[in-house]
Amino acid sequence: PEITADSIRQAVKDENVQFLRLVFTDINGIIKNVEVPVDQLEKVLANKIMFDGSSIDGFVRIEESDMLLYPDLSTWLVFPWGSEHGRVAQLICDVHNPDGTPFAGDPRNNLRRVLAEAKEAGYTTFNIGPEPEFFLFKLDEDDRPTLELNDKGGYFDFAPVDLGENTRRDIVLELEKMGFEVEASHHEVAPGQHEIDFKYAEAIHAADNIQTFKLVVKTIARQHGLHATFMPKPLAGINGSGMHINMSLFKGSDNAFFDPATDDQLSAESRHFLAGLLTHARALTAINNPTVNSYKRLVPGYEAPTYVAWSGRNRSPLIRVPQSRGLSTRLEMRSVDPTANPYLAIAAILAAGMDGLNNKLTPPAPVHRNIYKMTPEELKANHITDLPSTLHNALKALAGDEVVIDALGSHLYQSFVDSKRMEWDGYRQSVSKWERDQYLELY
Ligand code: GLN
Ligand code: MG
Ligand code: MG
Ligand code: MG
Repeated sequence: PEITADSIRQAVKDENVQFLRLVFTDINGIIKNVEVPVDQLEKVLANKIMFDGSSIDGFVRIEESDMLLYPDLSTWLVFPWGSEHGRVAQLICDVHNPDGTPFAGDPRNNLRRVLAEAKEAGYTTFNIGPEPEFFLFKLDEDDRPTLELNDKGGYFDFAPVDLGENTRRDIVLELEKMGFEVEASHHEVAPGQHEIDFKYAEAIHAADNIQTFKLVVKTIARQHGLHATFMPKPLAGINGSGMHINMSLFKGSDNAFFDPATDDQLSAESRHFLAGLLTHARALTAINNPTVNSYKRLVPGYEAPTYVAWSGRNRSPLIRVPQSRGLSTRLEMRSVDPTANPYLAIAAILAAGMDGLNNKLTPPAPVHRNIYKMTPEELKANHITDLPSTLHNALKALAGDEVVIDALGSHLYQSFVDSKRMEWDGYRQSVSKWERDQYLELY
């Protein structure tokens, strides 16, 4: 049923809601919230809640700091866990300027803008199915995360008396209470690592779901005495955590990626879109893998992509075309990790694909071999380039790609680059244990 101001007023009473969390996402993908007591509900519904934007990364200067929150009523959610003070409900909001216009620095507004461009070209829906992975670490006596894993399990292992399994099961149950349709949930390859896949949704809601998902995972893990982290590569020598993004583009009720008449039942449109993703892959990496640590995951040998290539079979390339056809025909982008701001990542991915469609780009031949095992000569002969190896290189690639820059718009692009340059400089100036181990005694 449609959620209206009235149904929210009713739910507040029926479910003893005492606090409203108004949430939005900053440039770094971090969820921000303004929490107000429920007696502010009418003000919330009238889009009148203000906050100081100058304290949020990537937002505004001091002199224009008062921003308005416009709640998207369709995101109404009452958290299933309560406290003695009553329950907390969440509304995801768009950020608006004091004069009521949408704020260009809000990643959610920006995604809506990019979606509208695709709509103008006839593509009514962009569906996104994410596969977030995460680690569970033990907490110490002071409740701080350690690097100690809670299990020794591996991919699809059965571990009946395992703290991690129980925690994941509880996470799934809480998600389902909140309306998530969990399609798969399993132990991942590395010890202490898990994956939970929930049903695809239209782009904005998929990004909203990713943000809520991360909050739920962290909250329930804490309740079990564990710390959940979406850091891409918390431990060297074992797999990192990705967030594969499955995508399909619809025209009305038709999946534009599907064409029963071709050999592989992939449409010409899916090929153009795929070619767009490959063409802009290096610039997209800055958005999809936005932390220094992201690049510790994008190395050979751990099921994460390192080269720009696609395949219908092999799992090592950047883009895979899963076997399913018909309405579930889709492309899977495997580079994305969970530190990506989902609103920015989905906007950039869509813009890259749309560029392929608009210019009828053709993808190179698929690569069915294990790319990790190819020699530099073979890579060259197959026109396979590599993904940027550092945040610095990814930012350089981004700076040269007008399509991806346009997908962020100038405000977001500038704040993104400023924030990431600072992060890179901080890293560059630090000296790690690895370096001292290598050089302190040798030289
Ligand atoms: N953890 C792997 C990565 O870094 C993915 C493993 C998988 O889902 N097959 O992307
Ligand atoms: Mg998976
Ligand atoms: Mg996985
Ligand atoms: Mg996958």
